[in-house]
This record gives sequence, C-alpha cells and structure tokens, in this order.
Amino acid sequence: MIRYFSTNGRAPIVALPEALWRGQAPDRGLYLPERFPVLDRSTRASFASLEYPSIATQVLAPYIAGTFSQDELEKICRESYDFAVPLEPVRHRPGVWVLRLDGGPTASFKDFAARWMARVLGRLVAQKGESLVILTATSGDTGSAVANAFHRVPGIRVVVLFPHREVSDRQRRQMTTLGDNIRTVAVQGKFDDCQALVKRAFADPLLQRFPLSSANSINIGRLLPQCVYYFYAASRVAGPDEPVVVVVPSGNFGNMMGAVLAWRMGLPVRRLVVPVNENDEFPRYLATGRYEKVEPARACLSNAMNVGHPSNLARLVAVYGGWMDETGHVHRAPDLAAMRRDLFSVAASDDQTRAAMQEAWHGHALLLEPHGAVAWHGLRQYQQAENISEAPVILLETAHPAKFPEEIEQLLGFRPSEPPSLRGLEQLPESYDILEPRYESFRDYLIAHLSS
Ligand SMILES: *Cc1c(COP(=O)(O)O)cnc(C)c1O
Repeated sequence: MIRYFSTNGRAPIVALPEALWRGQAPDRGLYLPERFPVLDRSTRASFASLEYPSIATQVLAPYIAGTFSQDELEKICRESYDFAVPLEPVRHRPGVWVLRLDGGPTASFKDFAARWMARVLGRLVAQKGESLVILTATSGDTGSAVANAFHRVPGIRVVVLFPHREVSDRQRRQMTTLGDNIRTVAVQGKFDDCQALVKRAFADPLLQRFPLSSANSINIGRLLPQCVYYFYAASRVAGPDEPVVVVVPSGNFGNMMGAVLAWRMGLPVRRLVVPVNENDEFPRYLATGRYEKVEPARACLSNAMNVGHPSNLARLVAVYGGWMDETGHVHRAPDLAAMRRDLFSVAASDDQTRAAMQEAWHGHALLLEPHGAVAWHGLRQYQQAENISEAPVILLETAHPAKFPEEIEQLLGFRPSEPPSLRGLEQLPESYDILEPRYESFRDYLIAHLSS
C-alpha cells in the first residue's frame, strides 16, 4: 500500500483517504506518494489497444490499493471519463500532436481530475456516513470543474472563491448557475488572495469543527489522475521505449506534476517543456537558482495560469530532493542540474501568445486558445534552443477554444463553434456573494454559511 508524506516533513505519513480528506497536510505541506509505482514495459505496451478508462484504472490502481477494490476503481474511471480525448496531428509539423483535454463538461483539462476526485470522495463520504465541505480557490477553470464535478454529490458541500474581475463571464456562469450544494464567492482581489484565504481557513482553529477539505490542485486527489493522459497519449503516438517530448502550459504546476509522476512511473520522456505566461517565476528560478514570486500575479490572457507562486512547486522541489515550504522559501535546494536536464521553461508575453495563436492557425490550421498558444510558443522556443525535432511531441491544449470567443474573433476573424456543454449558460440565473479579500470577513462568512 502506498502512503503519503508531507513536503514539509513535519506531519504524519498517512493513507490515501486521510490525504484526500485533509487536502493540505497539518504542517502546511503537500502530500506526495512515498514511492512511485513503476509500470513495466509490457503493461505500457498493452495501453496502445486500451481505451482511456481502462488505462486510467491500471495507472491509478497502485495509488488506491487498500482504499477501493480494482472493480470499484474501474467504475469510478468509467463514470469520470465518458467523453472523447482527441489527439490531433498538426499539419506541416510531422511528429507533433495536440492532446485536446477539453471534452469534459466544463471544457477544460481540470474535468479529468475533478470528476475522478469527486467520485472518490463521494464514495468515501458515503462509506464513513459523514459530510464534507470542499473549499477551493480558482483562477478560472478549477472552480467550474470542481463545482460541476461535485454538483449534487450527497454529503458534500462546495464553496468556491474566485477573483471577481479576473474570470470571464462564461467561467463565472459555469460556477454560479449550478446552485444546490454549490456556493460561489467573488473576492475583490486576485487569485493569490483567494488562495491565501483558503489556506488560512484550513489552518484556522476556529474552523476546525467543520469538516473542511480542498479540491485545489494541492489535493493529492487532483494530482494523481493527471498522470493518466500522458500514458494514454504516448501509447497512441510512440512505442513503449520511445521517449516523447511533453509540452504543458502551466500555472499552479499541477498538470506538469502529473507528467513528472508519469515519468517517474516509467513513461519514457525526453524533455518536459513547461511554458508559462508573464508570471515567469519558474523559468527565472530554473535559470538563476533563486526563487522569487511574482507579487502581485500578473493578469494575462491565459488567465487560468495567472499564478505568482505555484503551490505545486513544493512538490516539484521535493521530487528533486529539495525542500520548499508553502511560502516559497527554499530550505534545501533541489538538484537544479537534474531539473535543468529534465525541464525546459520559457515565459510567453501576451503579444507572443497572440502571435502563437495566429501562427498556429494560419500556418498549421491549428485552432488554439490562449493557454494552448502559450504551449505552442514554448514548443517553438524549445525547438529553436535545442535544435531537436526527432522525438514525438505531445502538446497539451488545456481548454476549448470556444471559451475564448472574443480573443479568437479578434485575432482570427471568426467565432469558434461551441461544444454542447457550453451552450445556454446565459439563460440560467446566477447566484454568488461578493467579499473583500480580508480573512476575518471570509471566516465570518464561512461560519454563518456552514452553521446553517
Ligand atoms: C488550470 C489551467 C492551466 C494551468 O494548470 P496548472 O495545473 O495550474 O499548471 C492551464 N490551462 C487551463 C485552461 C487551465 O484551466
């Protein structure tokens, strides 16, 4: 059975249900598995002929052993992944594939993790006969994915915080039109303010009587399912011994940590390319070895990546032998040389993001929204810098272009067609509360709402 330790090293090692329940470890560290189960060559080779839910079951089985049976896990994966996961070749760029992770109900990659975790937690709550409050901060897409995934799950209430002026109308409506067990709060601040409020709430003794958990990408239940699509995509485009280049547009670094996990679990990877937007703390850290957050976070076009201090860096640093605490202070340096060998990171300005959208469309008939365009820019920079083109490339497009109709119309001259999941939101009534970014106000609000 795999157990989970805290990156701050000052909390007990726990089994999966407790790690899921807590979200953040009591020492404010993030949970990581004690070891990475390795999938052997024949298992990975067999993935080529398996569908997504079956691959997910095999990849995730070692992590949930002792919590659910393999049959139960298979059911969870089938329910979670009942949509298409397209992998598109790119015109005039042989060997480059775009993995579109936008087929879920809220049309972003976050559906993959949120849907799995909601089903896992829903079953745990039912087993224990208890209730749970999911408290989560979102810079755009997490909130809608989480709210949608947990909507009407018995025994679970959800409180979502989002930065009032930094999410699009549509992103807001995806959260605020659900109702039932979903409550949404617009914070008059930035994503980092929302995240700080949530973090303080978890550490607040006055809130200990509420069964709080987090569905942010800091929850290990959000991380584990994000390693599956790398195995899936590689099985479609490369042999079991053939290393792939993976390109992951990154903000809070949960998605790229999924790739790191997959790599440690035996997926052959040549290089993990981690492009970011103007919040460039990570490429600067890689280059200089000195970590400095971007405060306040910069508001960029790729708004789900506007993160000035990615929580998951603590995990990345831990995997490379270092220790970064939750404030971003590096107590023990990771193996930076190894990180530089494995990872490549660049920042894309908004202008470069727009240019990448245009170049992808006009040069390759490839429709990208701003997050995918940051990835495209990063891939170009990587290929120029390293002059490598032989390995198959898997580039993640993390949202559906129809989530950014104004930008696309302005740049490319047409409006992308909407998937069914995004239609009709304008007709539904919205409900949300507005709060200032002050912890005491937020605590009062939570106590009033949760005591009712
Ligand atoms: C959340 C999000 C990202 C960033 O993912 P992280 O795991 O936070 O790095 C990228 N693109 C989209 C569309 C997102 O919603």
